Amino acid sequence: MNESTLALSKNDIRDDFVKKTGIKLTTRRKIIYNILAQNSNKHFTAKDIESMTYRLNTPTSISTIYRTLELFEKWGIIIRHNFNDDSAIYEYAYKEDHHHLICKACGKVIEISGLVPDNLSEQLLKVGFHYISYSLKIYGYCDQCREHINKIVLEG
Ligand SMILES: [Zn+2]
Ligand SMILES: [Zn+2]
Repeated sequence: MNESTLALSKNDIRDDFVKKTGIKLTTRRKIIYNILAQNSNKHFTAKDIESMTYRLNTPTSISTIYRTLELFEKWGIIIRHNFNDDSAIYEYAYKEDHHHLICKACGKVIEISGLVPDNLSEQLLKVGFHYISYSLKIYGYCDQCREHINKIVLEG
């Protein structure tokens, strides 16, 4: 990966975001930014990002990644989740509102969109809360795990 592929194109960061923050990304930050933005359908741990930087031939230390993720989170570029009490999981913030289905057995995270709780906006208005985006966490079992668990239960 060379310098030019790391340059942020206009579309990489939303205009309003750039205007608001005037943020300039260093090369290291661009590497991490691009990984998150170009894989906005995925969720990453810091370790995942570390191995991605190695795969992209731009190895970056885990401490730099943690520092950068902390900054990105503060700037609102990424969202941090704690799905399973273990390591934090990060995803790019500029994507459609969506919800997470978390399998309690294998830890798989599935995204769905379009499921809006009844009168959510009314309830938010009532408590005077102005939301930017929202995301539900729904815990349960994925198909494979459920099958597996059913087998254990049924066959003792
Ligand atoms: Zn599962
Ligand atoms: Zn997500």
